[in-house]
Amino acid sequence: MRSIAVLHASQLVTLAGPTRPRVGRELSELAIIPDGGMLIRDDKIDIVGPSTEIEKKARGAQIIDAHGKVVLPGFVDAHTHLVFAGDRLDDFERRARGDTYEQIAKAGGGIWSTVEKTRAASEADLFAQTQRHADWFLRCGTTTVESKSGYGLTLEDELKILRVMRRLNQETPLEIVPTFLGAHAVPRKMDADEYVDLVVNEMLPRVTSDSLAEFCDVFCERSYFDIEQSRRILSAAKKLGLKLRIHADQLSNSGAAQLAGELKAKTADHLEKTDEQGIAALKSGGVQPVLLPGSVYALGSAHYPRAREMIEAGLAVVIATDFNPGSSPTPAMPMILSLACTQMKMSPAEAISASTINPAHSLGRADQIGSLESGKVANFSMFDCEDYRELAYWFGGPQTHSVYVKGRRAHLTHERI
Ligand SMILES: [Zn+2]
Repeated sequence: MRSIAVLHASQLVTLAGPTRPRVGRELSELAIIPDGGMLIRDDKIDIVGPSTEIEKKARGAQIIDAHGKVVLPGFVDAHTHLVFAGDRLDDFERRARGDTYEQIAKAGGGIWSTVEKTRAASEADLFAQTQRHADWFLRCGTTTVESKSGYGLTLEDELKILRVMRRLNQETPLEIVPTFLGAHAVPRKMDADEYVDLVVNEMLPRVTSDSLAEFCDVFCERSYFDIEQSRRILSAAKKLGLKLRIHADQLSNSGAAQLAGELKAKTADHLEKTDEQGIAALKSGGVQPVLLPGSVYALGSAHYPRAREMIEAGLAVVIATDFNPGSSPTPAMPMILSLACTQMKMSPAEAISASTINPAHSLGRADQIGSLESGKVANFSMFDCEDYRELAYWFGGPQTHSVYVKGRRAHLTHERI
């Protein structure tokens, strides 16, 4: 048996607590152990406690000195679009010049440019390109990501993207939870209902028979998929055994939060335009809100979702990167912590709960990850700071010292000197 003792962390932020999503005041309770340590046996956490106690039981263990460092559970990023080809640098520059979405699309940019590049990439090439994305997450202290398909929009291209996720999960240290988002946009020259038929009758049965996804998501928005079309797709997915997530109320208050409540989706994501009724629907359906301040920031908007009202309503809030090439090109959860505190007025402690244990619940993995407790998988990150609040405070600079997955230090495949 391999054993490792992490000793003398300035703060061992354990997130130990109730075995259900954290709400209200619980979001602020991080169960921090000063001068903390933990003993890891093989890939699991065995004991967590003050370093003096851990030291006594650490005979024969490899010692990791965490002196002057904060130790946290690996971040769990519950909303990413990890697998796509290329970038959108030209769109980025056009937006900086003040071009509108329509002007950018006319110039050959927008989601379609990513769909075209992703379709054109071979499976091997797409894997190579996205392995780099996986490394970026690890470097920022994230050890699990939910990842959505949706840049293929044909049966074969969606399957290709989902197979790349499976291979990334097997061949990189990053844990990937796959979501089928065939209904990300309506393909060109296709009628929306015709495409919904394709998603329901061909894509979903194949995705589930190949066991390529755990969740199904829909971009529920005006001129994408309306409430009725979204309900049709998500109900079909549910019948096939997939759990549900929804892109809801990003650009308009369309009633998508109510749909999430009605279908008892695990999460409703974005929610920039959700009102009191929407918040009440999420509460009654037991839906976790996933807030994505990185996309609000990167689009140059100031319309952040109502995090405080959601916390006051008793919702188990999650924050995530929304990593994607168009509206949120960041893999960095520490940047999201900063935005959560400065723009959504969450406390640093609430932001930590919303990026570790709560997203683990939303992915159905809270019995394995999201906190540092006996019996859980030894996924943790060490940061070059002494107080967890520094992660949100010193924004934009790297603070990650090292990242461990299943008790082993993650060596990045694209490390550059
Ligand atoms: Zn998204």
